[in-house]
Amino acid sequence: MLHAVPSWHVHHHARRMYHLSLSGLGLGLLMSIETTTITLVPIGSVPSDLLVWLQDRLREELQLAVVVDEAIPLPGQSYNDRRGQYQGDALLIALRGYRLHGVQRIVGLIDADCYAPGLNFIFGQASINGREAVVVLPRLRQSYYGLPEDQPLFRERVLKEIVHELGHTWGLGHCPNPQCIMHFSNTLQDTDRKGLAFCPRCHTQLHEQHWQAAGS
Ligand SMILES: [Zn+2]
Ligand SMILES: [Zn+2]
Repeated sequence: MLHAVPSWHVHHHARRMYHLSLSGLGLGLLMSIETTTITLVPIGSVPSDLLVWLQDRLREELQLAVVVDEAIPLPGQSYNDRRGQYQGDALLIALRGYRLHGVQRIVGLIDADCYAPGLNFIFGQASINGREAVVVLPRLRQSYYGLPEDQPLFRERVLKEIVHELGHTWGLGHCPNPQCIMHFSNTLQDTDRKGLAFCPRCHTQLHEQHWQAAGS
């Protein structure tokens, strides 16, 4: 189900699927993704200039509709007093209850530290082959480590984490290629080293999965 259409072209499929190209990510191959809209949802307070910038860049990179919705409150029940962190799982569950017509993927952004069982902290978390993802902002800032703030670097890191978590929602696991967006970021050096693009292997996997989904 490959069509040589320009990268900006999104055309309607009879089964309400969209064929689109990720050539914005330097991929060049057309793929079919059931996702039509990505909704960014601030969880608690998130800088509005960041949201506007992310919306533009995600649209550009993914060639998908991206909307920013109103903030939802920080879910108190997911806060661990002892650790002083929110639990990522609980945030995904909070987003699961989020209903919005036509929304296919929801990315929560939280400007408070988070963890997952067995991990000291997380940069993000996603439901594999699911609908929800969360990206955690504080540790993506240079100032968190006592370094001078670097807004462009911070924004790029947030963007990478979002694309990475979206990759998980599209069924991708971690990739051994350190340049690939699906490479696991154990440290920020890992995040900074990798590009925004899916490597050929991940891209093929993404393509095949969604091609099969669209063709079945
Ligand atoms: Zn991951
Ligand atoms: Zn890869």
